[in-house]
Amino acid sequence: MIDHRKLGRSLEIYHSDPRSGAGLPLWLPAGAAARHAVEEYLRELERRNGYQHVYSPVLGRRELFELSGHLGYFEEDMFPPMRVSDDDELMLRPALCPHHCLVYLARGRSYRELPLRIAEIGGMFRSERSGVLGGLSRVRSIQLNDAHIFCALADVGAEVASVLSLVDEAHAALGISVSSVRLALRGPGAKYVGSDESWAEAESLLRAALAGRSYVEAPGEAAFYGPKIDIQVRDAAGREWSLSTVQLDFDKPARFDLSYVDAGGGRARPVLVHRSLVGSMERLFGYLIEAHEGAFPAWYAPLQLRVLPVSAGAASAAASFAASAVDAGLRADVDAEGGSLGARIREAAALKVPYVAVIGDREAAAGAVALRARGGRELPPMPAAEALRLIGDVVAARSGELVP
Ligand SMILES: [Zn+2]
Repeated sequence: MIDHRKLGRSLEIYHSDPRSGAGLPLWLPAGAAARHAVEEYLRELERRNGYQHVYSPVLGRRELFELSGHLGYFEEDMFPPMRVSDDDELMLRPALCPHHCLVYLARGRSYRELPLRIAEIGGMFRSERSGVLGGLSRVRSIQLNDAHIFCALADVGAEVASVLSLVDEAHAALGISVSSVRLALRGPGAKYVGSDESWAEAESLLRAALAGRSYVEAPGEAAFYGPKIDIQVRDAAGREWSLSTVQLDFDKPARFDLSYVDAGGGRARPVLVHRSLVGSMERLFGYLIEAHEGAFPAWYAPLQLRVLPVSAGAASAAASFAASAVDAGLRADVDAEGGSLGARIREAAALKVPYVAVIGDREAAAGAVALRARGGRELPPMPAAEALRLIGDVVAARSGELVP
């Protein structure tokens, strides 16, 4: 069976070392290259859709997490505080929302700048017991593709619909297939914050945003602070994981006393929408490695192009072709030393490299290359510039097909 832990090791995506600690994976160069491409894509997608990015620290004062309610509700999932002095204790954060609420509070806000969409791919921590940790799926150090949308309740429907369409777009580009969509609603009991009217309105807004999609309602699975939509995927072992999520929150705006000046000049309280398009980088890559069996689409493949000179005479043509590929923004290298041409082609196939360019003496003399796409498809020799254009177009289109 496919297991991202085994493939992750053979493709050198990540590494675990007991000296670092369980659930604290190291991203190796191949994994970092793929993740960098995905992060760049997500930031660009968010930027084009009205999000503003911030950076915030991974730890904060104990009082911040008392204010946010995390210490009241999630203390056992948090690492113990670090005592800096008698009146100063710092804690690793369990979520990014407290800091993003402080970003909101950095100055007064007017209804004109709402919805305010604050995004960050940022670090957070979970004090999981070492027994439940495994590969990239359950970790203690989490890099979350996160955003918080501060808006009026009347804007929630449009915001959630827009988040769902961005989720669709990101899933299509990354090659993610959804196994189920859950609408988590309030159940019986009094543990929920917010008025009955705002819950009823929020639940009907979420239902409206989901119109036309198939989903199941899960009464009693809402967070105490609001209803949510979880978009789930299935791993190779058949387990379901939540990747993408949209959650409404009536609680944090009150706890942080968030407000804005409304159109009539009065004070109004915004609603907070927490959302993640693709979840954490760890869980996302655990899923992607298995879903693609390591053969990522070209745009986020760690190495996109490997150049193989057939003979010593073609070595300098191979080196200059690889250099022009790197100049053109591709991740490319040359393998001149790995044995026979057949052995080097098999090595590139084992690494799931999307494109191999073979350069023999004839190609070298003509300024041409013979491209082979992953899976064995061989293209007739073509001018080097044309080959770069072909690969560059596939990467720019974030296509799942290697040959247009
Ligand atoms: Zn949040």
